[in-house]
Amino acid sequence: MKALVFHSPKHVSVDTIDTPVLEQATDAIVRVTSTAICGSDLHIYNGLFPQTRPLVLGHEFMGIVEEVGSDVRKLRPGDRVVVPFAVACGSCFFCERNLPGHCERSNPGHYGPEGNVISSKGGGLFGYTDLYGGYAGGQAEYVRVPYADTGPRKVGAELTDEQVLFLTDILPTGYTAIDWAGVRGGETVAVIGCGPVGIMAMKCAWLRGAARVIGVDREEYRLERAREIASVETVNVESGVALEFIRAATDGRGADACIDAVGMEAHRTPLVKISNLVHGQLGSFVAFKLAVSAVRRGGIVSVVGVYGVPYDNFPLGQLFDKGVTVRFGQAPVHKYVDQLLMWIKEGKLRADDVITHRLPLAEAPRGYDIFNTKKDGCVKVVLKP
Ligand code: NAD
Ligand code: ZN
Ligand code: ZN
Repeated sequence: MKALVFHSPKHVSVDTIDTPVLEQATDAIVRVTSTAICGSDLHIYNGLFPQTRPLVLGHEFMGIVEEVGSDVRKLRPGDRVVVPFAVACGSCFFCERNLPGHCERSNPGHYGPEGNVISSKGGGLFGYTDLYGGYAGGQAEYVRVPYADTGPRKVGAELTDEQVLFLTDILPTGYTAIDWAGVRGGETVAVIGCGPVGIMAMKCAWLRGAARVIGVDREEYRLERAREIASVETVNVESGVALEFIRAATDGRGADACIDAVGMEAHRTPLVKISNLVHGQLGSFVAFKLAVSAVRRGGIVSVVGVYGVPYDNFPLGQLFDKGVTVRFGQAPVHKYVDQLLMWIKEGKLRADDVITHRLPLAEAPRGYDIFNTKKDGCVKVVLKP
């Protein structure tokens, strides 16, 4: 089969590799009909998450069940499914607590309580390096889906692939950000980052009754997209007045909730690059720092942007003085996916309007390049195997 294989930073190619087969009685093989490139894939593509052996990438995918193992009860060949990005057993301590990204069984090689690159990480993820289980991902014609009774959700023929594809990750991730931020109605929510995840968070903020939603980014075309499809006010962080804008909108107090939907690959100034070298650090947490400054006292900062390493100058004192609650982590997609699917069916939520590029799988390397370099007005790339 054909699949997008990561070889080394910035070097991905569409290769012919063995088609996956059932390995466990609880596996399914899915023929992928649509898959997307995520901001999280860029962390591998740009070398911030190390991967030394070739690996098929992709954790946002859906398709048709081809084959199921003898212990699979809920799926049959021919079922059309969307598959959450975490590989989760469904029955361990963490799965039972609705924390599928922390599954104790799906990453036997590198799992543990510490949570850093050297000693241990969380549960398995599709197409997300050997640190997270080394599972081949879904930017491919076929993919092996372990614990097939736990993750995949069946979807009806009345919905198109594009309407439901983002249930695998970015829509539940946006929803997670807003749920963690405790949005119940009437709040001012500032979303740092107007990429696909940030835009989903904005849509979910409105759904949960926010009174005012402000989008922040440094790319004018992404701010424009956020205004267009998420009906938010926006401010460009490069203007230097994003913080003042958010405070001015809230009588000087700051937003009730700030979402960091940027993560460690925030744009780095030359000064940050020098500081990275001096401190031996990767990436930047400027987006998080803006969120901490822009949130009101007693407010909540909800971080879904991905971070991978420790940072000096973490604003501990500021968080303490302001009494800020911070929530971090991978989205528990399994927890929210059914409700979100219902809202899509009912027409309360729409996610497909972030798509700017549709490419055949064969052109996936070009898709990575235009998404990574933000060429051609790119917001979200969907690949068709
Ligand atoms: P993306 O790269 O398309 O979006 C990031 C956006 O941040 C871009 O629009 C960029 O212009 C903007 N940006 C860069 N520097 C900025 C700054 N200093 N201030 C404000 N905006 C800035 O990626 P995405 O797909 O939207 O994903 C966003 C983040 O969410 C990534 O870190 C990704 O890994 C993470 N993510 C997390 C989860 C989860 O489960 N927690 C799931 C999916 C994605
Ligand atoms: Zn993703
Ligand atoms: Zn588990």
